[in-house]
Amino acid sequence: MRVVLLGTAAGGGFPRWNCACARCAAARDGKLPARTPECAAVTGNSRDWWLLNASPDIRARLTANPALWPGPRDTPVRGVLLTDAEADHVAGLAVLRGTAGFKTYAAPPVLAALAPARAALDRHAPGEWADSLTEGGFVLSGGLVATAHPVAGEPSAYVPGRANDHRWVTAYRIEDLATGGVLVYVPRVSAWTPMLDDLVEEADCVVLDGTHFTADEATQAGRHLPVSGPDGSLSALTRHPQARRIYTHLADTNPLLDPASAARTQVSEAGVEVLPDGAELVL
Ligand SMILES: [Zn+2]
Repeated sequence: MRVVLLGTAAGGGFPRWNCACARCAAARDGKLPARTPECAAVTGNSRDWWLLNASPDIRARLTANPALWPGPRDTPVRGVLLTDAEADHVAGLAVLRGTAGFKTYAAPPVLAALAPARAALDRHAPGEWADSLTEGGFVLSGGLVATAHPVAGEPSAYVPGRANDHRWVTAYRIEDLATGGVLVYVPRVSAWTPMLDDLVEEADCVVLDGTHFTADEATQAGRHLPVSGPDGSLSALTRHPQARRIYTHLADTNPLLDPASAARTQVSEAGVEVLPDGAELVL
């Protein structure tokens, strides 16, 4: 299985268009690497690719990665697996319209929240919309099998009513049937649970929510599990040294954006990685 980290920033990207903080300014000056909103692509055969989330920058990210270019007849991008209904995870669906049979997997509350958008997109070309939580998981062309797993998280802020449902945010476990390689992709999670230990225990690679380094960076408390602290994700990840562990979805408040930061040293010494947009992994 090949995994390409197309984008590794939180919503808004890095630098954010409307932010003049020191880190965003440094990124504009080329002193820190810029990043686009988080999303990824996976394939088991290098011919059929599946996106993990559809960022607002998806068009530019597909254009920058020749493996994802169309040809000779059609696009190798078969569909997308959504982890939640966040605007920065679904906005790219507007770019991906117009391919008949394009498949989108998401949990039932996410599919319901997207109903108006689905109706509009299906007028360009009818897509397939599928329940990611279907019993036993689902097969992705190219030799991959995926299962979705609800994780701690809140409904997206724009959803009317914001009904209480434990399925708003999911992790994906993707296994390559030929190599046995397992990816666990969790770009958004608000609390660590024993279920995550079970998932990561059997993974070769985990790509995890690294939005905030400390809890006090968050404008809305509790939406993302912070990296540091006794209950932070770094301490949980140290229990799983067998897996390659990578942070994604970094907010502009996060010192991990700076390779020279003490935070980055701490994470590196724990064996956890922060990779640039475009990084490719083989499992
Ligand atoms: Zn900023």
